[in-house]
Amino acid sequence: MSRVAYVNGRYVPHRDAQVHVEDRGYQFADAVYEVIGVVEGRFLDEEPHLDRLDRSLKELRIAWPIARAALKLVLRETVRRNRVRNGLVYFQVSRGVARRDFGFPKRVRPSLVVTARATPPVSPDPGPGVAVITVPDIRWKRVDIKTTGLLGGALGKQKAREQGAYEAWQVDDAGLVTEGTSSNAWIVTAAGELVTRPTGNDILAGITRETVKKVAADLQLAVVERPFSVAEAQAAREAFMTSATSFVTAIVKIDDKTVGTGKPGDVARRLRVEYLRAVSAAEPFA
Ligand code: PLP
Repeated sequence: MSRVAYVNGRYVPHRDAQVHVEDRGYQFADAVYEVIGVVEGRFLDEEPHLDRLDRSLKELRIAWPIARAALKLVLRETVRRNRVRNGLVYFQVSRGVARRDFGFPKRVRPSLVVTARATPPVSPDPGPGVAVITVPDIRWKRVDIKTTGLLGGALGKQKAREQGAYEAWQVDDAGLVTEGTSSNAWIVTAAGELVTRPTGNDILAGITRETVKKVAADLQLAVVERPFSVAEAQAAREAFMTSATSFVTAIVKIDDKTVGTGKPGDVARRLRVEYLRAVSAAEPFA
């Protein structure tokens, strides 16, 4: 079955989906985006993702391309046309098309692109866990805004792949982990506390991170929001990452050091199961 994309009001074959060369998303990464996971025909945390889109747009003073309710219909229609039952829906809003000039154009209409892609159904089983490497965080100072300016993360992820790892944890000048290239970073201490960096301008406030905090509270697990170093993470009882596409994924190796037993720990295992249970409570639409 061929894929379909939504581009500025039209559903078009994916292979023909195009934006103008002077789109400011292309020229300046003057664009924001969201990715929502789809599990068994349900959007995971749809409203918080739309709230974060609203915040990103406001930070950059880009108008909504269409109303929020209309966008929700477009997301559903794109998922439906692509027959995605498990996968993800990606949507991007750029400031629009204008003659290349750094300053904002006076009159411009924001561009909206939506795509959807199927993935294998998610399993609550954590599998063997994944390895991460650490890299210096070379990104700009407003990574709390979910812009398409993702080169720092792309370079980190590429390095991870070349070294056989799944993700790269980015590290600030003080040696403290900020976050993964496309995920938030967590550890579990010997005392059983879950530790993750507090939100600020230096990390993206992950939607999955927020939901996992609630799931942890329901399980009566203590969550402490503070930065942690690479050495502390390597010596931790467990480490894991969260994102809309990886859910809760256990980390068993950081650079050359094995974390805990080298197998997914109990906390990551339980959080993955309970997170998937919590998000499956939403109404299916497909
Ligand atoms: N941090 C970064 C840099 C990301 O790109 C992402 C997701 O793409 C996340 C964290 C996780 O955010 P979410 O849980 O909303 O997917």
